[in-house]
Amino acid sequence: MSKDEIVVNRAAAESARHGHPWIWRESLSRGATTVPARAAGAVVQVVDATGAAVGRGVFDPGSPIAIRMWTAERAPLDARLIASRIAQAFRVRAWLFADGSTTAYRLLNGEGDRMPGFVVDRYAHVAMLRLDGPGAEAIAEQIVPPLWDALRDVGVTTLVRRDPTKDRSAARTATLFGPEPPDTLEVAEHGVPFVVDLLKGQKTGAFLDQRENRRRVGTLAKGRARALNLFSYAGGFSQRAALAGAKVTSVDIASQAHATAQASFKLAGVDPRAHEFVTADAFAYLTEAKKRGATWDVVVSDPPSFAPSEKAVPRALAAYRQIHRACADVLAPGGIFCAASCSSHVDAEGFASTLDDSALGRDDLRLVAMHGPPGDHPTLAGFPQGRYLKFAVLA
Ligand code: SAH
Repeated sequence: MSKDEIVVNRAAAESARHGHPWIWRESLSRGATTVPARAAGAVVQVVDATGAAVGRGVFDPGSPIAIRMWTAERAPLDARLIASRIAQAFRVRAWLFADGSTTAYRLLNGEGDRMPGFVVDRYAHVAMLRLDGPGAEAIAEQIVPPLWDALRDVGVTTLVRRDPTKDRSAARTATLFGPEPPDTLEVAEHGVPFVVDLLKGQKTGAFLDQRENRRRVGTLAKGRARALNLFSYAGGFSQRAALAGAKVTSVDIASQAHATAQASFKLAGVDPRAHEFVTADAFAYLTEAKKRGATWDVVVSDPPSFAPSEKAVPRALAAYRQIHRACADVLAPGGIFCAASCSSHVDAEGFASTLDDSALGRDDLRLVAMHGPPGDHPTLAGFPQGRYLKFAVLA
């Protein structure tokens, strides 16, 4: 056995062969747990118990995900492979966004583009890079230069690294190439302009995974008088509902998000003063709204993830049930309810169970659609965790 080989158990070998990019630490077979000597970013050859190749991946000594798989072949993880992965990812976006009406989208979706740990979001001429885990950080030197070449070819002039932190105010950003980016930027989705707060915004600035759902809300809000957007953040759903003619109430606990939302309203030619922006806890707001008998024709709920781990799933399902019941309580008869979940540990069926008649306390609603992530957030068929986004439409 060569020294870069790591033996994994049968289940892990099987799932990796189906395209699952993660090898959990506990799947490493015994002899191999003596590998902490390997540094983060070490490229390892994964083999099964019989010595047959499974593929090559990047090692991470500190994370529960011990190896992120890059390729199923014995081929090296070299400049050629990296350049071809980047090119493939960019080609998909070139056809997805060929009409030019969308200038904010995910150019590289980590695992889903077979570049585990590397996420790149594009906001017009600025690209934001997020590295997931020490393994990705350790090999960034190999990835970033060819990535920058490819980005320049598609018209990006600045590459910024933005690291996720629990405390948003402490988000670390560093400009890797090009001039410093502006704090805020104007971009468009399907021709609708909005403002992105690159510096203080959440994620890399916007929740790009909801693009198609924002458009859907614009369509279904047509001819409806009042819309309620809970966990509204920068007001993407709100703006679409307002453009469709509804009077919109946006509720978010972060007041800074409302400022961005109002700027986006103005940019799209909507007077924010005709709409309501409430800084409040969504649960508390719904309790109070029910008390005063308020109802809305469209209700959108897009909370932050309720399930940070598998263990938290029962609690998350209870929280979804609670918020969905409260939404159903203020949904006018004949109204439309859009419920989203970004918890990767909650699957579509589990999520649907928080929207059934008993959960909602009414039996006049039907599930008319259940949407997933859009094309610029591709997933691997063998990697269900990649399909974290659920967007249920009930009418
Ligand atoms: N729908 C948004 C994304 C929502 S992200 C979009 O399409 O862009 C989740 C948002 O929920 C964040 O803006 C966060 O500030 C807010 N939030 C978190 N907990 C909350 C709570 N208890 N009540 C209201 N808003 C909350």
